[in-house]
Formats: sequence, C-alpha cells, structure tokens
Amino acid sequence: MVWGVLGLSPAYIVSINVRGHKSMTKRKRSEQNHDNAHLEKELISAFERVTARDHPNPNRVGCPSPAQLKQIAEAKATINAEIADHVGKCWPCVQDLKQLRSGKMK
Ligand SMILES: [Zn+2]
Repeated sequence: MVWGVLGLSPAYIVSINVRGHKSMTKRKRSEQNHDNAHLEKELISAFERVTARDHPNPNRVGCPSPAQLKQIAEAKATINAEIADHVGKCWPCVQDLKQLRSGKMK
C-alpha cells in the first residue's frame, strides 16, 4: 500500500475511507476484477481531494526539508511520527512525495 510510504497515520486513512465511500459505491460490479488497483486509485484521489481542500498549507508551514522528503519518498529514512503526521495533512508535501516517487523531481 502507498500509505506507509506516504507516512500517513491510520486514523487519517480511516477518515478518507469514510469520506471517499460515496464515490466508491458508484462502481459497477463488472469492475470487480480491477478492484484492488481501482480502489487504491480512488483512495488516492479521494485522499488528494481531501488534503487539497482541508490542508492546502500554501506557506509550507512545518514542512520537512526537500532532502527529508526525498528520503521519505525513497524509504531511506525512518519517518518520525511528527513528520508522518504532517505529511499526511499537508497538500504540498503530498504532491512533493508523489512527484519524487514517480521520478519527475530530481
Ligand atoms: Zn508539508
């Protein structure tokens, strides 16, 4: 799962599940074969919508340094609880990690 890599707290993931439930019920039964990939995609997009809306953090308040984010994205560093909690509730950090993980930011 991506959650561990993103450093998200379990409580936050549960809240995403609840908020994302409405859109997930719209799926057709024929899509069940793709459920796992689809579900993860939906959870990510739901998570991103919620984060963008609730935690835009335009001034990057409390953000870890770019070097720290890179280490988190590459899973080279042990993420402390404070940073993990922040990254799960900070839109710019989520975007940075996403870009770092997809290799677009070097
Ligand atoms: Zn941040």
